[in-house]
Amino acid sequence: MGTFTVRTTKKTSFVNITANVKEEVKKSGIKSGICLVYVPHTTAAVFINEGADPDVIRDIANSIEKLIPWEDSSYTHAEGNSAAHIRSALIGNSRVIPVEECQLLLGRWESIFLAEFDGPRERKVVVKIIGEL
Ligand code: ZN
Repeated sequence: MGTFTVRTTKKTSFVNITANVKEEVKKSGIKSGICLVYVPHTTAAVFINEGADPDVIRDIANSIEKLIPWEDSSYTHAEGNSAAHIRSALIGNSRVIPVEECQLLLGRWESIFLAEFDGPRERKVVVKIIGEL
């Protein structure tokens, strides 16, 4: 199992962690299997989407902001970061990617993103690869 940390610098940000995950796949020596990417946090998430055009990520961030606004009079959680918890719960804190010939089977335009919803913070990413050597 591999882990790495990501230091986020803003309240909300999406950090492309594809290179870090690829490095863990390489280190594992697994030829064929599956790669779990997991963030053990309640106000962060992990998702896969287009990494080529940064406008896509910007549009996702803006839409999340509209769907789950930071301020809402119905929130009851005393910490004041309910929006971050809800965003994390909806997007999810893990993804699984197939591994073949020691490579992640990501689509041509796909990247893996750590979604920060209550930064800046230091976030841990756990990568577990299961398969045949
Ligand atoms: Zn909280």
